[in-house]
Amino acid sequence: MLTLDFHPAGRHFLQIPGPSPVPDRLLRAMSYPTIDHRGPEFGALGLKVLDGIRQIFKTRHPVVIYGASGTGAWEAALTNTLNPGDAVLMFETGHFATLWKKMAESLGLKPEFLGLPGIDGWRNGVRADMIEARLRADTDQRIKAVCVVHNETSTGVTSDIAAVRRAIDAAGHPALFMVDTISSLACADYRHDEWGVDVTVSGSQKGLMLPPGISFNAVSPKALAASETATLPRSYWGWQEIIDANRTGYWPYTPNTNLLYALHEAIDMILAEGLDNVFARHQRLAEGCRRAVRAWGLEIQCADAAVYSPVLTGVMMPDGVDADAVRKLIYERFNLSLGTGLGKMKGRMFRIGHLGDCNELTLMAALAGCEMGLRLAGVPLAQSGLAAAAAYFGEPAAGADRRVAA
Ligand SMILES: *Cc1c(COP(=O)(O)O)cnc(C)c1O
Repeated sequence: MLTLDFHPAGRHFLQIPGPSPVPDRLLRAMSYPTIDHRGPEFGALGLKVLDGIRQIFKTRHPVVIYGASGTGAWEAALTNTLNPGDAVLMFETGHFATLWKKMAESLGLKPEFLGLPGIDGWRNGVRADMIEARLRADTDQRIKAVCVVHNETSTGVTSDIAAVRRAIDAAGHPALFMVDTISSLACADYRHDEWGVDVTVSGSQKGLMLPPGISFNAVSPKALAASETATLPRSYWGWQEIIDANRTGYWPYTPNTNLLYALHEAIDMILAEGLDNVFARHQRLAEGCRRAVRAWGLEIQCADAAVYSPVLTGVMMPDGVDADAVRKLIYERFNLSLGTGLGKMKGRMFRIGHLGDCNELTLMAALAGCEMGLRLAGVPLAQSGLAAAAAYFGEPAAGADRRVAA
């Protein structure tokens, strides 16, 4: 793709679960001239995106925007609120939960990793009952935060965040509640205020459809209060200075101006479609994808239908098939990128992203690439997944479709 002397015809199918394809409207907005980040137009832009992004997180409280990838916003969530040596309860849902836990360790926190044994943890959602039991046992309240990943992008599992909140409340525990929505925001229903989340971490390059490069912390009043006494070192990530500057639409340092243009457009597109319609579209695409995988006779990585991800579908390979070799073949033959297996799932699965700027025909093309590639790779397929997805997507919409043939 990147070699300067070779441009494959047609468009590249970027079907990894983030970065997701950037709509032309966002790319055009990003090409506007970079303006003075202390000038009057900038303040108006800043106020507009800061207001709009709160609607996406469903919060009335501040959302801090960083010029960083999602990993930076993970670090910001921890360093703004916690003290060296604090115990943090995390839940092993997959690779991203594991990386966040490693970060907590490297920052001098004491994370405790709850989870199901073996590979089961990587095929199921967060178990709120296990969190509740652990918090009940923490009678001297040493645990300062509970951290979970909403949509585990390495596996295709979307956990029930409201259930985790209920578990914390049922245990009567004062720990802060932090949630990674880097791949779920603007794909799956999410309610920062209603679900009592203290810090929501997110990123630009998945459901929000932007290129990589900005990330977010939505901050509750309780988290903001914790930041006043928290002693982990932080400077660039410090909330208060940014929130103070944001009041008039500015940042204490140079913000990512052109990505904020794109964010402005993305918020406009998402709110125009309507958040509930965006979520329903993702659910529908995910269902069509799963029907294809089942028709192929392959196994879906997520083992619990209640927590299937609307963002991506993990496809397990039969024993003896190297998923990365299949991905490579599909990329080379059909100019289609699929997500690799991460961590414990390396080589055992690939991931089909159906997030952001994606519709039924986009996904059909991706599924066609998968089906042809799987056949070429010699993976035995039970039936055509493409036909199964077409049958699902082609069902008449309620009352809307008209037959033209007798
Ligand atoms: C992508 C992703 C991350 C990492 O974000 P970067 O932008 O790559 O730093 C973390 N958590 C989840 C759930 C993700 O999907």
